[in-house]
Amino acid sequence: MSAPKEYPAAAPASAALFERARAVIPGGVNSPVRAFGAVGGTPRFMAAGRGPYLVDADGRDYVDLICSWGPLILGHAHPDVLAAVQAAATTGTSFGAPTEGEVLLAEEIVARVAPVEQVRLVSSGTEATMSAVRLARGFTGRPKVIKFAGCYHGHVDALLAAAGSGLATFALPDTPGVTGAQTGDTIVLPYNDLDEVAGAFAANEGQIAAVITEAAPGNMGVVPPVPGFTAGLKRLCQAHGALLISDEVMTGFRAGPAGWWGLEGVDADLFTFGKVMGGGFPAAAFGGRADVMGHLAPAGPVYQAGTLSGNPVAVAAGLATLRGCTPEVYEHLTKAGEAVASAASDALSAAGVPHRVQFAGTMFSVFFIDAPVRNYDDARAQNVPAFNAFFHAMLDRGVYLPPSAFEAWFLSAAHDDEAVNRILDALPHAARAAAEVAPA
Ligand SMILES: *Cc1c(COP(=O)(O)O)cnc(C)c1O
Repeated sequence: MSAPKEYPAAAPASAALFERARAVIPGGVNSPVRAFGAVGGTPRFMAAGRGPYLVDADGRDYVDLICSWGPLILGHAHPDVLAAVQAAATTGTSFGAPTEGEVLLAEEIVARVAPVEQVRLVSSGTEATMSAVRLARGFTGRPKVIKFAGCYHGHVDALLAAAGSGLATFALPDTPGVTGAQTGDTIVLPYNDLDEVAGAFAANEGQIAAVITEAAPGNMGVVPPVPGFTAGLKRLCQAHGALLISDEVMTGFRAGPAGWWGLEGVDADLFTFGKVMGGGFPAAAFGGRADVMGHLAPAGPVYQAGTLSGNPVAVAAGLATLRGCTPEVYEHLTKAGEAVASAASDALSAAGVPHRVQFAGTMFSVFFIDAPVRNYDDARAQNVPAFNAFFHAMLDRGVYLPPSAFEAWFLSAAHDDEAVNRILDALPHAARAAAEVAPA
């Protein structure tokens, strides 16, 4: 395949910035996946975002299928979000005291997700899950937490563990710097297997504070819960006096208007949110049953705090974004998502590349494997080099996919026909590039 004229593979301005960045920032980036380590090549340094497009340091534009890893559901630089941010910033950027905006954002979340009676605002999804786990331990007086392999809950020490498949395993840390003690109370199980969860409860009677799960996992690619799985988790938690924590940092207000909860309707005890509710700013939240949330300081004994929690500018961006998330927005995400997903599938089929598309509400991803993906082991069996070739061919044609085979593809309300058509035009070329590295 010859390199298309308008998007030559080289990105000299990005390459120069990357070199400077690597001198002063570890690996040149402030979050690892941005470095293109999984797919190879030079990460693009971005200069601007407009609607569905990103513009890089070399002045090339891309249809953005990351949308800041989910938050920008209305697209880049949405006028209502910008206006809210400008108004808030003009009034003062941080007070270290409560503001009306925090109440409005909390009310908006509580109104959308019925089992959430109270929320605490924080600044990142990591803080939200870390705090929810602490609260669950404080509320139950128990030490252990069950998580699922392939589910990402931010870089919380106790949750940075994914064990091998099969039997219940006391997790070994995934990374140096996390001690065995920090993950010693974490039990990692395969996703979508209730028998494993029942077995872990039986083997740890009275010890398990919580089960934490991505509401519909999106961090190993999109792997929706099989029917009955989430309800089964709830039932097991209830039967054993543990709390169910539904991590909706990615799915919240993205999979649907009320997140994954709105689609499946299982009332977890605690929920975590981030991404969309921050509108592209550092805002996140955890919330749930009032009797559980009442254990948080200052109402209760479990300590949690933050200098910039509920920051007025971030809260304004989040509120404007949620208010902009009308039924039409979700209809558009559904339609555009189906158009892109089915075109990707058609192109890959035409090129003879084994693949599978999976949806969770409006979220979807494309696996480079021709089999149902129900857990992390399934996901890891895909043809990653084929995805990498596909990724670069899309990038060369001005479409910016997540630089990893294990991520959801994110659209926004701003992805209009022109943007979608550029994706559709690029897909057959990318599928042919993938075919060159697909197994026979
Ligand atoms: C992104 C994400 C997090 C972490 O959020 P950060 O804001 O990056 O700390 C946690 N859980 C899930 C499900 C996520 O997708």
